[in-house]
This record gives sequence, structure tokens and C-alpha cells, in this order.
Amino acid sequence: MYLKSLEISGFKSFGKKSTLDFNSPIASIVGPNGSGKSNIAEAFRFVLGEQSIKSMRGKRGEDLIFNGTKDAGRQNRASVKVVFDNRKRVLDIDFDDVSIERVVHRDGVNEYLINGSSVRLKDIIELLAKAHIGSSGHHIISQGEADRILNANLRERREMVEDALGLKIYQYKRAESERKLEKTEENIKSVESLRREITPHLTFLKKQVEKVEKALVMKDELTNLYLEYFRREDAYLKHEKKTLGDAKRGPTEALAKLEKELSLARTVLAKSGNKDEKSNELISLEGKIRIVRENLDVLSRSLGRLEGNISAEERRREKAKHALGSADEKLVHLKDVEELEKRVGESLKIAEGSEDFSKIREVLKSIRDIFARFISDKKQGGAPKEIEDAEAELTRLNSEKKGIEAEIEKDKKEEAGYHKAYETLKNDIEKEKDSSRDAEKAIFKIMAEQNQIHGELSVLKVREELYHHDEEDFKRELGEAGHLVGRAIVEYENFKIQGEALETDRTGQQERRKRIEKIKVRLEDAGGGGADDIMKEFREVSEREAFLTRELEDLRKSSASLEILIKELEQRLDIEFKEGVLKINKQFQEFFALMFGGGTAALEVVRETKKKKALTDLDLEGMGEMPEEMGEEEEGKEGIDISVSLPRKKTKGLAMLSGGERALTSIALIFAVSQVNPPPFIILDETDAALDEANSKKYGDMIENLSKYSQLILITHNRETMSRAGILYGITMGSDGISKLLSIAFEEAAQVAK
Ligand code: ATP
Repeated sequence: MYLKSLEISGFKSFGKKSTLDFNSPIASIVGPNGSGKSNIAEAFRFVLGEQSIKSMRGKRGEDLIFNGTKDAGRQNRASVKVVFDNRKRVLDIDFDDVSIERVVHRDGVNEYLINGSSVRLKDIIELLAKAHIGSSGHHIISQGEADRILNANLRERREMVEDALGLKIYQYKRAESERKLEKTEENIKSVESLRREITPHLTFLKKQVEKVEKALVMKDELTNLYLEYFRREDAYLKHEKKTLGDAKRGPTEALAKLEKELSLARTVLAKSGNKDEKSNELISLEGKIRIVRENLDVLSRSLGRLEGNISAEERRREKAKHALGSADEKLVHLKDVEELEKRVGESLKIAEGSEDFSKIREVLKSIRDIFARFISDKKQGGAPKEIEDAEAELTRLNSEKKGIEAEIEKDKKEEAGYHKAYETLKNDIEKEKDSSRDAEKAIFKIMAEQNQIHGELSVLKVREELYHHDEEDFKRELGEAGHLVGRAIVEYENFKIQGEALETDRTGQQERRKRIEKIKVRLEDAGGGGADDIMKEFREVSEREAFLTRELEDLRKSSASLEILIKELEQRLDIEFKEGVLKINKQFQEFFALMFGGGTAALEVVRETKKKKALTDLDLEGMGEMPEEMGEEEEGKEGIDISVSLPRKKTKGLAMLSGGERALTSIALIFAVSQVNPPPFIILDETDAALDEANSKKYGDMIENLSKYSQLILITHNRETMSRAGILYGITMGSDGISKLLSIAFEEAAQVAK
């Protein structure tokens, strides 16, 4: 037993709250016509999520709400709550009791609740579908709808059978998958269109990026070229500077030395201008020497004459002396002796007064000299006058001779002096002559050397100018490079070079410079402006593109898997449907034979015939444009046909059945279907209305059998049916127009039902 209770409040004729407890496998609802019994069946439909107001005999949601009578006011809301016993977890929710409630308000707003919590309609439908309960269809058979399945067309019948077999869930899933598929296809289309929209922009950006990348590659190449170029240029310039410095040093120093030598040589040369002065001096010396020589000649002649005079005088004196004889007997005058005594006495007096022995000795010696001179004087004294004269003359002559000799000596010395000076001067002049000649030669040599060095230096000067030029170029190019490829260029000194950085041969550098210029031109043509923006935009757009591609892939994948799912669902549906039909047929045949005491009944799966008639040429002529639906070839769908043949009668087919026979056939079919896949409960609203007594009995038996599989709620006027119920609810409607519920005994019920 699954159905526990139904609570109705404000729904249709149930102006007041009424509760039905279904604590028996079969419950019967009885009551007079118009008391509100069918409203109960509709309350079930309502609470189980029925959306068709029409199927609940209304036009708008408002029609479902108790509308009031002349004695009772109308309600603003209608609510129905059904409570299930869920201990067997028929409903996929982890509660032993599950209540489902629906409320409708006058403004048409619906509320759905599961166990008091607000939910969506979808949640209720899903929950119930899994338990093989639905708002409409197979397990709620409304009044007069028992033979609906017989009246329906092939396709509708198939749907009904599918529903009864519990295949609705597949249908539902398929529909959902189809919806999803449709949505996915829509999404695919919109993503595709988005992709198409950005494609041209992306293509454009790609080209731009290619340009930028090319420019970047060129820039890289340029940077490397520059780095190598600068590294080498720097090495070259440094080397050149040093080389020039070294090369200049030698000649400059040599030049300075030569300058000194030149000025020295010039001085020497200038000095040789004194030559005349020296010659004059030489002439003057020659004059002096001549004068001295003439003087010496005069003096020599004078000396010769003197010496002649002296020898003549000496001969005259010798002759006088010879005439005179010896001098031993000479006489001395007293006066002379006194004189002598006086002189000696004076000396003695000095000696007597002195203590100094050496002084005394000196005095003694002088005394001896005095005596010696006295004697010598006295010996000579007394010679004849001639001797005396001669002697005087000799003395005079000798003294004259001495004077001349001294003069000669002096002149000779003077002459020797002049001679020496003359020789020196002459030597000097000779020497000067030599050195000026040398100086001249040296000057020429120096000047030649200077010329040569100046030549060398001017070569160096040219090289130096070239160097400065190169240095200027280097600086300018460095600035330019920095502008073109950025600050990285200042790192050129760290740039690694294969082999030596220094190349004295300039062709390599010239080659590099040419290549640099070429790339510069190409780079300019490429125009790398706005590179960052382009890259950024490209990144963004391609990310978006990639995102869309991924999205598209995902969508396509899910579309494919949805298609597979739909296929699978269809196959499953098809298999289960066919298996179900086979099972139903077995029961159908049984119940049919039971009801009619024989005969055959079966459901047949058939393919619908095509509805469209073929167009004739005539039809086509009259039409301008072919209507779309006519052009389509409708696929014939599978449906269900019912074939019946009654026992002992020749008639076959549904059309030939009487009203009662139709009712019996449909009951047999409903029961067969219900038994194959029993729903938790079945509501049958006066399905038994058309049955005669005998058939009512058979109906009652079948009901009892069915109640083993499903809980039954039977709205009926039939006593036989009532007799099979475990609980009876009587519905009455008083003058207030409100349906009232009373639980009653069978006899009472039978009475009430009338
Ligand atoms: P029968 O045995 O003849 O089939 P029944 O017991 O099934 O009758 P219902 O059809 O369930 O009767 O009830 C119909 C009654 O419900 C009518 O009297 C109708 O006036 C009343 N009714 C329907 N809708 C409303 C409503 N919105 N407000 C008040 N009463 C309503």
C-alpha cells in the first residue's frame, strides 16, 4: 500500500478541508450525482502535476478553486496534498512518508511542495515518473474515459501503452535529450557564427603578428649584428688609438731630439761668423812679433858693442896693473886705523849689551867682515888713477850690459808668448773652419730627417683623422642602434665573439655595416609600430577563438553523445515497448476471454500508412509555389491497432462492438496493461457504469485480482464493486454546495450511492 491519504482544501466543490485515508487495498467512493466524487479523481490529477485544466473540467486555473455558493464564501486558493508511504522507497527520496502538495492561487500561480519544501513542477514529475505514477493516463481513468484507448488513433494508442508500460520515463528522457540536442545545435550555430565573425579579424591579426614576428626576428638579427659590429669596432678603435699613440711617440721624440740638434748645429754655425775677428787678431799678433824681433836685433847689436867696450877696458886695466907691480909693502894712514877702531868699538858695544848668543855671534861675524874689507881695501888702495878709471868704466859698462841682457830676456819671453798665442789662434781658426762645415752638414742631415719624420707624422695624422671619424661614427651609430633595438645594445662589450674581436682588416666591418643598413631598411619597411598592442589583441582574439573552438568541440561531443543517447533510448523504448506489448497481449487475451467467455483480442504494432496523397501533374499546374508541408514525405510511424473477435460471432473489429462490449473490451485492456506493469495505485471513475450484473461480478473478481498489484480507488454506483472495497467514502453535497466526506458502512454506502 502506497497511498496513505489525500487532503483537499478549497479545490472545486471541496470548500472545506477534507481528508481521505486510504488504509485498504480497495477504497470506494460513493455518493449521489454531482456530489463531487469526480472532483476527487481530478484532485489526484491536480496534485500529481496535471497541466491541462481542460482535463480537470476547467478553463482557467481559477476554475479549480472553490468558487463559493450563496451560503459560503469563495476561496482564494485550492490545495491538494497526497501522502505516500515510501517505506519501500517507491519514490526515489529518502523518507518513509512523502507528501506532495500543489497549491493554485486565483492569479494562476502554482506552488509545488515535496514534504513541505518548495520545488519545481519538474522535480515532482521526475519523482513520480520513476515510480510509474503520472498526472494523467493509464492509472487515472476518468468518468467516461474507459474506452478512450479504443477511440484513440494508432499513434495515441501507442503513447498510452508506452505510458502504461512505464516507458514515459524514456520518452521524457528522450524529449529532454532532444531538447538538449536542439539547444546544443543552437549553441553550435551561435558559436560557429561567433567564430565566423572573428575569423577575418583573426586572419588579419595573424598577418599583422607575422609581420611583427618577422620584425622581431629582424630586430634580433639586427641586435646581434650590431653587438658584433660594436664589439669589433670598439676593439678596433681602442687598438687604433693605442697603435697611433705608439706610432707617434717615436717620431715625435725623434723630432724633438732633431730640433735640439738643429739648434745646436745652428749655434755652431753662427759662431763661425767670428772668423774675421780672429784673423785680425792673428795679424795684430804677427805685427807684435815683428816689433819684438826688431827690438831684439837692436838690443843684440847694443850688447855686442858693449861687450867690445868691456873687453877693451879690461885690456886697458890689465896693462895699468901690470905696470904697477906687487902690493905687500903698502902704508896705512892712522886716520883710517882710528876709523876702523871706532867701527869695531860700536859693534862691540852692541855685543856687550846683548844677552843673545846668536846676536853676539852675528856681531862677531860682522867684525870679521869689517877687518876683511879693511884689509882688502888697503891692499887695492893706492892703485894708479888709470886703473881706477878703468875699473869705474868697467863697472858702468857691466851694469849697462846687465840692463840690456835683462831687456833681451824680457823681449824673448814676450816673443815666445806672442808665438804661442799666434799658434793657438791659428789652430782655433782651423778648428772652427772644420766645425762649421760639420754643422752645415748636420743641419742638412737633420732637416732631411725632419722632413722624413714630418712625412711619417702626416701619414699618421691622416690615420688619426680617420680614427676620429670612425670614433664619431661609432658614437652616432651606437645612439641610433639604441633607438632602434633598445638598451641591450650598451652591453656590446659582453657580446661573445667567435675568435678574436679585433680585426685590423676593415672589410669585415664594412660588410657588417652594409648588412646592418640593409636590415634597417627592411625593418623600416616592415614597420614594427604598435607591436605590443597587436600582440595583445592577437592573444586575446586567438584565446577567444581557441575558447570557441573548445566550446564547439565540447558542444559537438555532447551533441554526438546526445544523439547516441537518443538512439539508445529509442532502441530501448522500442525493445521494451515490443516486449511490453507481448506481455499485455497475453493478459489482454486472458481477461478478454474471461469477460466474453472466449474469443480473441490482441494489440498489433503496425506502421501508420502515409497520409499524404501523391501530387498529380494537374495539382502542380494550378500552384505557383509548392506548399512546404506538401513537399515533405511523412515517415510512417509505428502505432497500435487492436484486433478483437468475439466468441460465437462473426464480427471482427472494434467498430462492430456494442456499448457494453466496448466497455468490457476496454476494461480487459486497462486491466491487462495495469497487470503487466502495475502502478502503485489506480483510480477508476465509474468504469463499471455500463456493466450488467453478470459482468459486474466478473469485474469485481478482476478488481480483487488487480488489487494484489496496485492500490485501487474506485468511484462507483455499482453495488458489486462497492462490495469488494475495504473502505467506503460517502460524498454528499448539502444545500451549502460544499462536498462533504463521510466514512460509512457498506449498506449505508449502497444507500448513499443511490
Ligand atoms: P456524478 O455521480 O453525477 O458523476 P459526481 O459526484 O462525480 O457526480 P462531480 O462532477 O464530482 O460530481 O461534482 C460536480 C459538482 O462540483 C457540481 O455540483 C459543481 O457545481 C461542483 N463544482 C465544480 N467546480 C466547482 C467550484 N469551482 N466551486 C464550487 N463547486 C464546484
